[in-house]
Amino acid sequence: MRADLIIVGAGMVGSALALALREQGLECLVLDGGPMTVEPFDASAGYEPRVSALSMASQRILERLGAWPGVLARRSCPYSEMHVWDGSGTGNIHFSAGSVHALTLGHIVENRVVQDALVERLHASGVGLLADARLERMRHSGDDWLLTLADGRELRTPLVIAADGANSAVRRLAGCETREWDYLHHAIVTSVRCAEAHQATAWQRFTDEGPLAFLPLGERDGEHWCSIVWSTTPDHATGLMALDDQAFSTALGQAFEHRLGQVLHVDRRLCIPLRQRHAKRYVEPGLALIGDAAHTIHPLAGQGVNLGFLDAAVLAEVLAQAAARGERLADERVLSRYERRRMPHNLAMMAAMEGFQRLFQSDSLTLRLARNAGLDLVDGLEDAKALFVRQALGLSGDLPDLAKVS
Ligand SMILES: Cc1cc2nc3c(=O)[nH]c(=O)nc-3n(C[C@H](O)[C@H](O)[C@H](O)COP(=O)(O)OP(=O)(O)OC[C@H]3O[C@@H](n4cnc5c(N)ncnc54)[C@H](O)[C@@H]3O)c2cc1C
Repeated sequence: MRADLIIVGAGMVGSALALALREQGLECLVLDGGPMTVEPFDASAGYEPRVSALSMASQRILERLGAWPGVLARRSCPYSEMHVWDGSGTGNIHFSAGSVHALTLGHIVENRVVQDALVERLHASGVGLLADARLERMRHSGDDWLLTLADGRELRTPLVIAADGANSAVRRLAGCETREWDYLHHAIVTSVRCAEAHQATAWQRFTDEGPLAFLPLGERDGEHWCSIVWSTTPDHATGLMALDDQAFSTALGQAFEHRLGQVLHVDRRLCIPLRQRHAKRYVEPGLALIGDAAHTIHPLAGQGVNLGFLDAAVLAEVLAQAAARGERLADERVLSRYERRRMPHNLAMMAAMEGFQRLFQSDSLTLRLARNAGLDLVDGLEDAKALFVRQALGLSGDLPDLAKVS
């Protein structure tokens, strides 16, 4: 089988790219190792442990791709405030949507919900899909790539887009180099029921071991649910995972200073090792990396998939402009335009997260005093905070058309 462009990976980012290309009138084939089916949504079912804080820019992209109604029809929780504080001091900072005249700072959505809303659109849009198609080998064959799937099928294309996640097979098979290092953090994620309402607020406490986030998940039958992301040292994480639910709830409540009262219930816990990874190049002739295949970042600012959606929107825009000019899409000069627009932005975000993480991990008394004073100082600077909020919402910078107000 031959296709002009093959996207490997129909996760949130690969699916968004396929829809964005279709919106621009470009044909592609999307393959995924999974079944690419959409499960009927059951509102009475428990929350998925993996969630994302979607920015305004991501919301706009999903709206333009027709997937946002599918998100809203399932389950999502808007939040309009964010509280961040230092657990070993007095510093705190508060952000609000009102400071930039916005209604929300974003939405907390289960990854499964975003994924299903996108795949539902993919099926409706007539994009070529190949499910249960795990890429196993990949090599050059003339001007094309020859892809071999686990079941032996072969596919040929001049342009491969890697959207196959953090452990990208495409990246490995094509020999793309990365810079990577351990954050020396594992993230425990789960959903919890709290005694008190979350107040449409994303809460984050920096503990001595790492950040602990409580993200609002909505109210079910008068119950107050939050998703938690507890980033901590591997040893501490192992110890926490070994606790029974009751002991874990107690430890969690203490670590969170009981800001939302007692933790009454915890769902199934997942423990995810955190690793920073960044491809040295996002492109080479006939190949581009997007989303987690290009970069993975600490979840403390909830930006990973938001960056991935912007990658997808920019790449679709670059390819559409090139097609309109009659250029060869697989040409490295064309693909480099995508890299030039996205790499500085992604690197800046990763550097900021790295800085935050180091600042809050430090045992130095001087740094602790400085960061507490710094947090309080910045909290008083309304203009600086509004600038930060606009940046985080994706309301400023080099935005692709899909993320702009239409
Ligand atoms: C604890 C935690 C919390 C996070 N919180 C946030 C948040 O609040 N906000 C945010 O923006 N981001 C967040 N992130 C990051 C976000 O989850 C990722 O950036 C996002 O899931 C990456 O999406 P993706 O589509 O690039 O990759 P993936 O979701 O990994 O999708 C990859 C797809 O490729 C397919 N695939 C893989 N290998 C092959 C192969 N060989 N052949 C065919 N198909 C293949 C897989 O089946 C999958 O469908 C968080 C991450 C973590 C770990």
